[in-house]
Amino acid sequence: MAVDLHVHTTTSDGTLSPAEAVEAAVRAGLTGIAITDHDTVSGVAEAVKTAGGRLRVVPGVEINTDTQIDGRWREVHILGYLLDPASPALDTELQRLRVARYERAQRIVDRLAQLNLPVSFAKVEEFAGGSPLGRPHIAQAMVDAGLVGSVLEAFRLYLGLGRPAYVERYKLSPEEAVRLIHAAGGAAVLAHPGLIGDDSIIAPLIAVGLDGIEARYPEHGRREARRYAAMARRYGLVVTGGSDAHGPGFPGRATIGEVRVPDKAIDELDARRPLGEPASV
Ligand SMILES: [Zn+2]
Ligand SMILES: [Zn+2]
Repeated sequence: MAVDLHVHTTTSDGTLSPAEAVEAAVRAGLTGIAITDHDTVSGVAEAVKTAGGRLRVVPGVEINTDTQIDGRWREVHILGYLLDPASPALDTELQRLRVARYERAQRIVDRLAQLNLPVSFAKVEEFAGGSPLGRPHIAQAMVDAGLVGSVLEAFRLYLGLGRPAYVERYKLSPEEAVRLIHAAGGAAVLAHPGLIGDDSIIAPLIAVGLDGIEARYPEHGRREARRYAAMARRYGLVVTGGSDAHGPGFPGRATIGEVRVPDKAIDELDARRPLGEPASV
């Protein structure tokens, strides 16, 4: 009995459709899968329909948030599980995030044009490939257009904070994402804390009701996984894990089921949901 609680599909930047992801999970012998696309829950319905009772499909989402650590802005990803995909509060906020990212990218491209550094917006979207639009994709388009030698140079000269094409972005804090997930009836989990590299962000999240920590993750070493699992248990949180699979064509990425946790993790998340009603899985 094993589940993969972190899977992306074509609904965001994955290469498998939600239906294909479910078939891959069945082939991998999983008993459950969570569809956790970036800033959207629109792939969940197709996955539930395809599963047809062969395995549990957990409605999920991965929300990119920003927080300051020692004066520097860092990205923190919050996973939401067993939430109501039709929640109006969730829908409104996720849409706001998507629109804000799009508009910011457009404003940056406009500024670059004013600086005589023309970049095609279509090219930026192509590099994003469905993931939340961000400066790295603009930097890649600049390299592609021969305007800079590298992504790093694009940031250093134009896109970084205080540089001429820098545009402030709409920010959601990790705490706000936790509250949003609770408002949508779900359980909130800190994604891949090892990639953040600073555990000081965890206590404030526990204070607002964080429900779990993604301890098992492809890029977490064995010791790191153990450390985060122990931390979760110490605070009475659910130990979760997942592959963060993006489908074939993502070099260096894990495949569906490569990281799995016992399926009681789903029941433990379910028990922590604010409404306490059975979720539709
Ligand atoms: Zn992530
Ligand atoms: Zn992810």
